[in-house]
Amino acid sequence: MLYIVATPIGNLKDISLRAIETLKKVDLIACEDTRHSKILLSHYQITTATTSFFQHNRFVKGDYLLKLLKEGKDIALISDAGTPGILDPGYNLINMAITNNIPISFIPGPSALIAALVVSGKPANKFFFEGFLPRKTESRKNRLKKLAELDCTVIFYESCHRILSTLEDIAQLWPEKEIVVARELTKKFETILRGKPIDVISAIRKSSNKGEFVVVI
Ligand code: SAM
Repeated sequence: MLYIVATPIGNLKDISLRAIETLKKVDLIACEDTRHSKILLSHYQITTATTSFFQHNRFVKGDYLLKLLKEGKDIALISDAGTPGILDPGYNLINMAITNNIPISFIPGPSALIAALVVSGKPANKFFFEGFLPRKTESRKNRLKKLAELDCTVIFYESCHRILSTLEDIAQLWPEKEIVVARELTKKFETILRGKPIDVISAIRKSSNKGEFVVVI
């Protein structure tokens, strides 16, 4: 069985009993970054063996994990944060398992996408998740123009390096739009910024652009 196990997006307490139980009982845990996941695993005295499964080894390691699954081993897949498969290489392993008729089971839990959507207070009955916007300004602006045509809530992830430039692009395109920026959700410096793009930009400039961000429009 391949268990897809959601883990916290910051606060170590945001993990389910079933997730802990599963991580303790499987033969192997596939982590994006084993050193990063060690913090969570040792916090809950989980001593199961770990192996890395990340963007650059996803095909070679994927084949190896598939071989173990075919031999009857139980493997848990976790990502650095949140729900595996949402914008991380977990997607590839899940697909390989499905194609090879390996049974899969999902242990649900946090995802920054859903957390940000809920705290945003924006309509959640219809929304579009963009993942990460293109890095280059021109392509980012073009993509934002396309997203502006949608008649639903739009959510995307952004890094601390690009949050201000992305918000500046949004300020140019939609100066009057009320947006929400969720920073460091569930962590010590959690901040939810609401307002026109220009107001959110100045709030970030006054405080800090460090950390992880989700933008909801
Ligand atoms: N699988 C993860 C999930 O379920 O949310 C997402 C992985 S994606 C590679 C990482 C991005 O998620 C970060 O760059 C950031 O934009 C967002 N993110 C993750 N944790 C966050 C948090 N605690 N607060 C705000 N954004 C977060």
